[in-house]
Amino acid sequence: MQLRIPGPTPCPPEVLQAVSRQMINHRGKEFGEIIHSVTAKLKELFQTKNDVFLLTGSGTGGMEAAVVNTLSPGDKVLAVSSGFFGERFADIAEAYGAEVKRLSFDWGKPADPEAVRQALKADTGITTVLVTHNETSTGVTSDLKSISSVVKEFDKLILVDAISGLGSIDLPVDAWHCDVVVTGSQKGWMVPPGLAMVSVSEKAWQAHAKAKMPRYYWDFTKAKSYLEKGQTPWTPSVSMFFGFAVALDMMLAEGLPNVFARHARIASLARSGVKSMGLSLFPDESCASNTVTAIRASEKLNVAKLLQILRDEHDVVLAGGQGNLSGKIFRIGHLGWVTEDDIKEVLETVAKVLPQASS
Ligand SMILES: *Cc1c(COP(=O)(O)O)cnc(C)c1O
Repeated sequence: MQLRIPGPTPCPPEVLQAVSRQMINHRGKEFGEIIHSVTAKLKELFQTKNDVFLLTGSGTGGMEAAVVNTLSPGDKVLAVSSGFFGERFADIAEAYGAEVKRLSFDWGKPADPEAVRQALKADTGITTVLVTHNETSTGVTSDLKSISSVVKEFDKLILVDAISGLGSIDLPVDAWHCDVVVTGSQKGWMVPPGLAMVSVSEKAWQAHAKAKMPRYYWDFTKAKSYLEKGQTPWTPSVSMFFGFAVALDMMLAEGLPNVFARHARIASLARSGVKSMGLSLFPDESCASNTVTAIRASEKLNVAKLLQILRDEHDVVLAGGQGNLSGKIFRIGHLGWVTEDDIKEVLETVAKVLPQASS
């Protein structure tokens, strides 16, 4: 089976074996050793000296944690959005009472750093910027380095949804001055769903000290004080920690630059394969993501039928479009445990099935 959606992604056999281990006491010495070691390795992969927490929940929980730990109701927030997940980040901040100004870009386009600069200039009351590094719904990677540098010109806080990019696409958290960065175990990390990982900068801690949004489960203060004891405040997804212990070693053994290069190579292969079938990419190639390729469906292509034949007859599972893009695009996930051969096989199968799903 080729499960090629942008998360959950396939897990290597070593990881599957690790997550099937017998339970241990989550308040015991062995768990303490695991959480310290996993956290230290994650910091390396986040390229940060900031605090990093593993929160039991999905990526969206991590986004909510970023918001409720740094903001107060009534705070003015600039939500930079170019797709389904950008809108979700804005919705979360709104749900907790922030005054959200949406800076929305057409789906399929990246966020424009200059527009962020103009928005921050126009409203000096904005305290925080929300941004998506890799917009999974449209297959677009925005220029986070430039956006973050603009945000820092104005000395504002930046919260980053890097759920489907971190660990697969370069994002040096400290070098790019990102205050809170969120990712999730089931994306590029080769681990099943169940953990959100977040980094928290010094500036984010300062914001946290004043932040008044209601929070309990996601409280960073609790996460930090328990981590010092080698624990989490609440029962964690113990099995996923076992999985991480193995997956992070695999990533470190490959080497972060090699992991990024592999994703870039495979993405490039996916894009050229798609184009050679006469299909077109949904985003402009210059901003196309290295973890997910979004393909525009022509009038003649029935996306639902294509996905169904791929799944039922060829064991290839791809993703459709989300929200407004349903029926208009389909997506190939190529992040985490993936090789060139996997994607070649997927492309060959798509080429074969395409005529059967076209009118
Ligand atoms: C997958 C994803 C999410 C949502 O994560 P869940 O784990 O499904 O909660 C949010 N943002 C981006 C960019 C994603 O790819």
